[in-house]
Amino acid sequence: MPVPAGVICRVVSMLIVRKTAGVFAKPPKRNVYGFLRSLRVCPGVLSPPKLVLGIETSCDDTAAAVVDDTGRVWGEAIHSQTEVHLKTGGIVPPVAQQLHRENIERVVEEALSASRVSARDLSAIATTVKPGLALSLGVGLSFSLQLVNQFKKPFIPIHHMEAHALTIRLINNVEFPFLVLLISGGHCLLALVRGVSDFLLLGQSLDIAPGDMLDKIGFLSVTHTGVKTHGDPPALALHVPGLQVARRLSLINHPEYSTMSGGKAIERLAKEGNRFHFTLNPPMQTAKNCNFSFTGLQHVIDKLIERKEKEEGIEKGQILSSAADIAAAVQHVTACHLATRTHRAILFCKQRELLPPANAVLVVSGGVASNLYIRRALEIVAKATQCTLLCPPPRLCTDNGIMIAWNGIERLRAGLGILHEVEDFRYEPKCPLGVDISKEVAEAAIKVPQLKMTI
Ligand code: AMP
Ligand code: ZN
Repeated sequence: MPVPAGVICRVVSMLIVRKTAGVFAKPPKRNVYGFLRSLRVCPGVLSPPKLVLGIETSCDDTAAAVVDDTGRVWGEAIHSQTEVHLKTGGIVPPVAQQLHRENIERVVEEALSASRVSARDLSAIATTVKPGLALSLGVGLSFSLQLVNQFKKPFIPIHHMEAHALTIRLINNVEFPFLVLLISGGHCLLALVRGVSDFLLLGQSLDIAPGDMLDKIGFLSVTHTGVKTHGDPPALALHVPGLQVARRLSLINHPEYSTMSGGKAIERLAKEGNRFHFTLNPPMQTAKNCNFSFTGLQHVIDKLIERKEKEEGIEKGQILSSAADIAAAVQHVTACHLATRTHRAILFCKQRELLPPANAVLVVSGGVASNLYIRRALEIVAKATQCTLLCPPPRLCTDNGIMIAWNGIERLRAGLGILHEVEDFRYEPKCPLGVDISKEVAEAAIKVPQLKMTI
């Protein structure tokens, strides 16, 4: 709420009083000055920044952050469960739940103390409540609701994919509408972003996500018949453990690549290879829609590796002499598949005047968006369609608390979905993003002109 300019001295002394009172126990100077800088000065009035705490537990990261309404990140903390899940060969939901339970309080405390604020200073608490792994979402939600009730704060429920899509507006001055391609270990979709909570879903993966194909550890559930895979929401089912390309190429046994994510390892290895040594066809070439598919390709790659293993006479676990060439071919075909569907989405949006004819913005985010080869393929598409390609930095592409807090700020500013009553609030493991117009996109059957993918 705006306050008269005359109270600036009181604001400063308040900061100092709170500092000595212990809330700002050891505030780094930048935070005090940052706070002052972020006071928006209008003639005669000042308004303190609105602070939102964001909490993320939808999958295997426990993350929290405090962001203000100018986009300043005050502090963040994250605990990743990857190491544990790698040992079990997949995410076992009760294990993920237990790890979230063990870490959430510490992570939130760390985010608040890094921000030098207390929960009392917050304008609202924003939390991922959909879609995601039920047991994981539940931990974040119940912890958040305790805070909400204890400190009497408004609650802002967050859609995980909406948060991924809006992250770019934290760092770039991007106006609505824009097109977003989300590609990660659990997501693969194309959507038109018309407003903070106004999305048109143009297409999505019919099976797994690209990160899933390259390396992602899927969800496992133990049934009476044994261990069954579930895949990541929302790219559900059909996830086959052991077929992930990085694992099939045994990159974990390669000294140079053993410590990096499989997707990153493939990108590095591909640099040493020649993609022309193997021909892999992009999936769904005859389907003139904006959907994706990766399981068929994953099986083709598995068969190719099996054949090469036989030819080279090596055992499973050893590294093929042609591994770099295979990695290069896999990376290329993945980039081409993503590029063609994105190209069609841009043409569809322009045809329907959903995007401007020139200078439209294409945003690419998610862990796989850190792949520079894939980015260059998308740059070719952007250039051919007079679009500007924007990608958040890698640490904001993967799951984090900042994107949730920022989504909270976006909703706070727009006055959308701010709850003051949270009794009986439920999380939603499955939840589509926006209005699904993928059938309309398919009916338009737009032919995509061939682009020279010289990357
Ligand atoms: P996320 O699901 O958003 O946390 O992203 C994790 C996924 O991104 C994993 O499947 C990683 O293998 C993948 N990934 C990370 N870096 C790269 C890269 N450079 N190239 C391709 N995939 C990557
Ligand atoms: Zn995500």
